[in-house]
Amino acid sequence: MSQGIAILGSTGSIGRNALRVISGLGAGYHVVGLTAHSSVELLAEQTRRYRPQFVAVTDCDYAERFRELLDGWETEILVGPESLTALVESDAVDTVLTAVVGAAGLPSALAAARSGKRLAIANKEPLAIAGELLTRIARDHGSTLLPVDSEHSAVFQAMQSGRASEVRKILLTGSGGPFRGATRRDLEDVTVEEALDHPTWQMGPKITIDSATLMNKALEVIEARWLFDVSVDKIEVLIHPESIVHSLVEFVDGSVIAQLGEPDMCLPIQYALTYPRRVAGISKPLRLEEIGRLHFERPEPETFRALTLAYDVARMGGTSPVVFNAANETAVENFLAGQISFVQIMELVEHCLDKHDVRPTACLDDVLEADAWAREEVKGRLGQEV
Ligand code: NDP
Ligand code: MG
Repeated sequence: MSQGIAILGSTGSIGRNALRVISGLGAGYHVVGLTAHSSVELLAEQTRRYRPQFVAVTDCDYAERFRELLDGWETEILVGPESLTALVESDAVDTVLTAVVGAAGLPSALAAARSGKRLAIANKEPLAIAGELLTRIARDHGSTLLPVDSEHSAVFQAMQSGRASEVRKILLTGSGGPFRGATRRDLEDVTVEEALDHPTWQMGPKITIDSATLMNKALEVIEARWLFDVSVDKIEVLIHPESIVHSLVEFVDGSVIAQLGEPDMCLPIQYALTYPRRVAGISKPLRLEEIGRLHFERPEPETFRALTLAYDVARMGGTSPVVFNAANETAVENFLAGQISFVQIMELVEHCLDKHDVRPTACLDDVLEADAWAREEVKGRLGQEV
């Protein structure tokens, strides 16, 4: 039977790659739902090409334009932020690929887990901020969580060499971003263009900035803690500039199992869709003899504060990671808009963590409340309207 796939955030970097992967897979997989926030031209193009049963536009201001673009088409159009939840609950959807950016993807990720569907997770922020809630709901409702993030896909693949109880350590690799080797001082004058110029990966703007601050790796440490149910004390970060070894798992006998591949998201996206099977796909084969050398080094916690903060907030739990993430999302938006400097991103995050009284997160509302608090705190600090 063909697997019906809904891609939340189909107009983004992961979403567009996922559509290429699904086209390459051919029979056995079909697109039932696509969504965008405001890129309605591209969403209309994707709708004509992939003919999904549902399409959703989350930013209501763009709905009218989208309806005009799709005039005469049969596809059901859903509108508004809640439309993602309605879409994932449709019986036609077997697999949900979450590729929305940021905490905005949390309610739909929870809905997908609650509906017991196969959940391919690219959108890491929901796991980082509500990992306990999301993994518990998935477990209770029989939903299989499959990592799409390349490092977590690598860990997931390496984990198949042993038992969870036999894992000594998870080693998450990271390229180090465009400012690898820089001092804190060097970071003071970097421009938006420099921060967006990632050495190995082509990604959306928010995650590219997070890769430059190492916030991306910070979120990934917390993501791994929940996906693999391990203490953060067993997770280490290793800088690997070539982005070929996507991560490693060290077992208690000392054996280290790694997964390697070109820096291309198509492979982890495909594995999350075809798991437990492996099929030929569109990814370029790895030729290690052409790469020649691979390098590994320790990260610089003094320059890149995000990593140290990640371990602190993961140990603290509750609303602490929520504030960590929301402050960063708001600060990154401001940096991309040219409102603040690169180093101010982490200063704002630290400011919010210092001011926040950590509380438990028993339900979605607790998460949303702390998320809204941190966003307002950043805006208030910058003298912006809240
Ligand atoms: P992009 O910015 O390229 O795409 C984001 C997608 O989400 C777009 O479809 C966008 O629509 C939609 N979107 C934006 N805001 C909202 C909102 N408020 N509500 C609903 N939908 C929204 O991001 P990426 O594809 O780079 O990343 C997506 C997620 O995957 C992130 O969480 C990222 O951390 C993670 N990830 C990405 C990797 C990559 O290689 N890109 C690698 C590993 C993880 P529109 O186009 O209309 O704005
Ligand atoms: Mg990653």
